Amino acid sequence: MKIGFIGLGNMGLPMALNLLKAGHQVTGFDLAKSQLDAFAVAGGAIADNANATAKDADVLISMLPASQHVEGLYLGDTGLLVNANPKTLLIDCSTISPKVAQAVATAAKAKGFFMIDAPVSGGTAGAQAGTLTFMVGGDASAVECARPLLEKMGKNIFHAGANGAGQTVKVCNNMMLGIQMLGTSEALRLGIANGLDPKVLSDIMSKSSGRNWALELYNPCPGVMDNVPSSKGYAGGFGVDLMLKDLGLAVENAENLDASVPLGKLAQQLYENHSKAGNGQLDFSSVFNLKK
Ligand code: NAD
Repeated sequence: MKIGFIGLGNMGLPMALNLLKAGHQVTGFDLAKSQLDAFAVAGGAIADNANATAKDADVLISMLPASQHVEGLYLGDTGLLVNANPKTLLIDCSTISPKVAQAVATAAKAKGFFMIDAPVSGGTAGAQAGTLTFMVGGDASAVECARPLLEKMGKNIFHAGANGAGQTVKVCNNMMLGIQMLGTSEALRLGIANGLDPKVLSDIMSKSSGRNWALELYNPCPGVMDNVPSSKGYAGGFGVDLMLKDLGLAVENAENLDASVPLGKLAQQLYENHSKAGNGQLDFSSVFNLKK
């Protein structure tokens, strides 16, 4: 299959590499030269711009930071919906507003494209290992067309509902993740202040009722776990500003529906303080070091 892949960042690059490994012809594009170079070194073809990436592609995948980047890529006179072939299946894996995902998919449908939203969970380790969870929104037929490809990048592929439903699931999941990372960090810091070894504390809580993903697989305390951002100076991984964006999506979504998310709002405030203190580009588990 000929695949165009736009957005070769922390997540997009390993995802595109897994498609290459699976034997597909993948042409990638990113605004950052460093990312294009990394893809080319690994054997990927690179294009000069987004529209060239989509040329002749059976499937076009985007993995961009936020809603405005996705709108910019697909909509308007220079966007993909005007310049790509409507036979190309469009898959947006970025985490964006459910409303924007619906609007872009509606515009795509009007031009004759099939489009799905397919945000992911599992972090950069999941992207590298090809074990991501995909939360997919869109018509069942489009989801089934995409499934074999998604299975090359992920282990669990869930069809959540109509266009935008994948993003809604993702927003709920990441609000919970943001809260859990703060709670896990607080518990570890409290234990350390009491003189406990954070590794021993983590081992015990991982077998107790406080267990959760942040504690068990993405421990925020440096030195407890190898190969996680906390043990690499909080480099790479999932940026504080990306988590802040996702909490903003959750709070906005809740406000539109008059749903109550007091912890989501508090988490948003705490990540915002952390970002404003100059940590926006660090991995989100760096909230472990959040000052009062
Ligand atoms: P990233 O910032 O590492 O990568 C985004 C890439 O998109 C960058 O390389 C950037 O240069 C490129 N880009 C931006 N605008 C572009 C454009 N118009 N055309 C081409 N390239 C463009 O971000 P990431 O961590 O890879 O995250 C991507 C998305 O996945 C985000 O929506 C994020 O919320 C979501 N996500 C991230 C993780 C994670 O652990 N990092 C996990 C799940 C979901």
